[in-house]
Amino acid sequence: MKLAIIGAGPGGLYAALAAVKQNISVDLYEKKQVGEGICCGECLFDSLGIMPQLGEGLLHPVREVILKGRDHYGINMSRRRKLWMLDRKTWQQGLAKQAVAQGICLFEQTEITPDRLLAMQKDYDWIIDGSGAPSITSRAYHFSREYFRDYMAAYQVVLKGDFSALWPRIKVGFISDLPAELQAGYYWIFPKDERHANTGVVCTVHEIQDKERLQLKKRLANVLIDEKLTGAEIIESGGGMASVRILPRLVFDNIILIGDAAGLTSPLHGGGIDMACFSGALAVSFLTDGSQDVGEYQKSLTASLEDKLNLEATAVQKMKALNFCDFDKLLAGVTSQRNTIRAKTALRHPDLLYATYRWLEKKVEPPNWPD
Ligand SMILES: Cc1cc2nc3c(=O)[nH]c(=O)nc-3n(C[C@H](O)[C@H](O)[C@H](O)COP(=O)(O)OP(=O)(O)OC[C@H]3O[C@@H](n4cnc5c(N)ncnc54)[C@H](O)[C@@H]3O)c2cc1C
Repeated sequence: MKLAIIGAGPGGLYAALAAVKQNISVDLYEKKQVGEGICCGECLFDSLGIMPQLGEGLLHPVREVILKGRDHYGINMSRRRKLWMLDRKTWQQGLAKQAVAQGICLFEQTEITPDRLLAMQKDYDWIIDGSGAPSITSRAYHFSREYFRDYMAAYQVVLKGDFSALWPRIKVGFISDLPAELQAGYYWIFPKDERHANTGVVCTVHEIQDKERLQLKKRLANVLIDEKLTGAEIIESGGGMASVRILPRLVFDNIILIGDAAGLTSPLHGGGIDMACFSGALAVSFLTDGSQDVGEYQKSLTASLEDKLNLEATAVQKMKALNFCDFDKLLAGVTSQRNTIRAKTALRHPDLLYATYRWLEKKVEPPNWPD
């Protein structure tokens, strides 16, 4: 089988490593250098509980998440080990090096255009599109608008300053004056070490919106003032979007969409690294297991992610439905050290309790993971 993969992001790289393990001939096309120009909080939440050892680029597990509503609340992560800070550039370059050593052909600085994609369909048995959102397939098949039905718009800066008081914890703050139609929205401060932190704001958007209305840069400037970070030096800045709704169709002739190209980011927090890796490896398992119909890829993906996405959607509903004061009470309740308070909060929000229970009970089988 001849396989082409477009995009050397987490999804494309996991797909390449999974494919090479099955002795498939893989050509991986990346429009930049691997790891170049990444704009990301670089916090990997293994929400499916299946990520293997991350290897090169893993900085440290996150010890605690500080949530800020009206007050501050902590969630201790040391027992769960599901949250890590990464250096994505090092991580992705390490994965690419590993894939090349195992025999894939990597073409960097090679942008696939819509015309080239259509021509490639004759040269390859299958093409995995991990080009992010909006994907190159959407440009060739004219469905780019699908990514903008429900999406998260984000703006981030990389700060150089003193983060020793927060590191190795991270902070997520909820924005009290965000209009209801832009909920769920929050800001993040994710220190990579004691001197550097990725700091950004994100909000949910329906249909394409005027950037002026979102005011992301202004909102971030306010966060820097509130968090007393105006003395820190901004060494990088950038923005991006993430579609938070799985696309209605993921297979187009011999093309399969994965990761952000498939609309696989969390509706709650916009993170998608784990789902990109998962979908990349899952797509390969559908191509290599003769007993599975590739048309079933989407069904299998949706079934694996259903409970996680339901829980996140329920949490988003809470953020939309509750006023800031009641949302703050919810944060206080779910993070309380006292069992009775947590139980009372759960009884007040049975939908959240049920969705959490379903998520915790769910066992997702990792697909053909790379070694
Ligand atoms: C500001 C911001 C912060 C974020 N923070 C987090 C976070 O902390 N944690 C988290 O889990 N997620 C985060 N995300 C989401 C996360 O970045 C994505 O979900 C994840 O990168 C998806 O991986 P992917 O492989 O599908 O796509 P991408 O990482 O987008 O990779 C796509 C690759 O394809 C290449 N490419 C694109 N077009 C072409 C083409 N035509 N030809 C060849 N190559 C092409 C690109 O150069 C890129 O290397 C954040 C997103 C944003 C915008």
